Amino acid sequence: MSDCIFCKIIRKEIPARIVYEDEDILAFDDIRPQAPVHTLIIPKTHLSSLKEAELDQAGLLGKILIRAREIAGLKGIDSSGYRVVVNTGPDSGQEVYHIHFHLLGGRRLGWPPG
Ligand code: AMP
Ligand code: ZN
Repeated sequence: MSDCIFCKIIRKEIPARIVYEDEDILAFDDIRPQAPVHTLIIPKTHLSSLKEAELDQAGLLGKILIRAREIAGLKGIDSSGYRVVVNTGPDSGQEVYHIHFHLLGGRRLGWPPG
């Protein structure tokens, strides 16, 4: 997607603080962090949201969850704990329509979320 901001980050057309990258996924720090650790993990193929995900993408999306655990380790929050959030659609506050998994931690997180 040529005008998608996260696709531009994948193509390195706009800068990001990249935390992890492999052939399928990219993780980079959120530009407006809501916690001491706030990293976004995205697939390198464009997918708007969880709503559009198909079963044949289950492997890719599952891989992101497993990598989230490893990225939490890289960020030093694997023992203290963390939250993985996928905002989906208007009521969730989703702003960027390239699916992303928020990895949040480094402080005690409130529940329920606002
Ligand atoms: P959401 O509300 O779930 O769609 O989250 C989108 C997230 O992307 C927000 O937390 C933004 O701060 C973050 N964001 C938007 N643009 C950038 C960018 N260029 N680099 C890093 N994070 C971004
Ligand atoms: Zn995209």
